Amino acid sequence: MKTLLRTLLLLVTLSSAIADTAVKAGPRKGRLLEISPTQSAEFFVEKDRTISIAFYDAALKAQPPAAQVVTATAETPAGKTKIDFAPKGKLLLATAPLPTGEDYQVVIQVKPDANSKPKNFRIKLLLYTCKECGNAEYACICDH
Ligand SMILES: [Zn+2]
Repeated sequence: MKTLLRTLLLLVTLSSAIADTAVKAGPRKGRLLEISPTQSAEFFVEKDRTISIAFYDAALKAQPPAAQVVTATAETPAGKTKIDFAPKGKLLLATAPLPTGEDYQVVIQVKPDANSKPKNFRIKLLLYTCKECGNAEYACICDH
């Protein structure tokens, strides 16, 4: 029985690990986050280390930000830093750059509107460019 339980646990761990690697990239070569079947957001890190978020419909047509509420939490070894966003043109732009360093987790919380349940996305912040797909490693769509 114990062995069976352990096998089941292993299977659950394995399948969630597989689900995590199915990364999709958006039109800006950022990481695509599925908010709902008809709406997605794209996480992109600008050159000055600020995060920008773009919204798309089901056909990946850009949509201006509406009632969405986005916050980011950078989980660095030194502690957690919360980052807010403000609309700028067709994007939501972080009001502060990411803390220095990389290889830490960034949690993006998206609420479709102020009254909806939030959805969390955990992204490992790796900023180097993947040689195979040409995306930043946080948005790498390769199988490695
Ligand atoms: Zn890649």
